[in-house]
Amino acid sequence: MPQLVVMVGAPLPGGVEDVAATVVGAYGLSPVDGRVLSPDRAMEITLDGIGDAAAIAETLREALPEIDVAVMDEANRRRRVLIADMDATMVVGETIDELAAALGKEAQVSAITERAMRGEIDFEAALDERVAMLAGLDASAIDRVAEGLTYSAGAGALVRTMAAHGARCVLVSGGFDRVTGVVREALGFHADRANHLEVGSDGRLTGRARKPVVDSATKLAMLRETAMAAGVTLAECMAIGDGANDLPMVAAAGFGVAYRAKPTLREATPYRIDHTDLRTALYFQGYEDEEIVALASQR
Ligand SMILES: [Mg+2]
Repeated sequence: MPQLVVMVGAPLPGGVEDVAATVVGAYGLSPVDGRVLSPDRAMEITLDGIGDAAAIAETLREALPEIDVAVMDEANRRRRVLIADMDATMVVGETIDELAAALGKEAQVSAITERAMRGEIDFEAALDERVAMLAGLDASAIDRVAEGLTYSAGAGALVRTMAAHGARCVLVSGGFDRVTGVVREALGFHADRANHLEVGSDGRLTGRARKPVVDSATKLAMLRETAMAAGVTLAECMAIGDGANDLPMVAAAGFGVAYRAKPTLREATPYRIDHTDLRTALYFQGYEDEEIVALASQR
């Protein structure tokens, strides 16, 4: 099974093939074939042997800043399961911060969110603290935040294309189920899992989330359960996220992607999207534009 180098840019500058050939040459490898995945945006090069994928990718990133690069094996290239984080991955921003904004507490809450996503403080304690700050908020504010979300570019294309090719797609979030339900529908996920905020008889948030909370261990468990139900190994699964609480699932999946991620997560996987949009996860899997669903849509 050959090894492939995939390069994605917005757009790809001229001459990237020559730079890639020089880099892989230093590892004793040569390009033997090439394929355009998206005109001016994405291409892959087939190598004549197998090298240290992580090292080659890192050297290519140094040689080609502003290009997203992956070194892929041909085996299991198209994944059968997608487990995706929501906040700052499938959607732009953190929904809990937007809820806090409705109460004028965005600064306090977002400071805790940032530290939790970097893995500097315990996830559950940080969630409890922030949810407590939401006490008294009318529950309909959650629905307004859900309806007003900005989706990450390529999110719908990623989910719908993988689903159209037979992958089971699950949204798993440390955020809230009233939001993930809307995002699941909008992007075409088969299922979603998230935290549930308690609502009092007055229609306002009590400031408590149902226990046990969805945390990094739940995300990993969802990956394992979904793989088992689909009858595939973890090597055949993709997981994608941006924060420290995504680390166990991203590290466990054969194709674990760090999307515009915090440093702790970026260092945990050889697969990163730092410069381009979520369609890049499809190009890394060898999809061409003609196979991508909803390419024209913003979602
Ligand atoms: Mg996130």
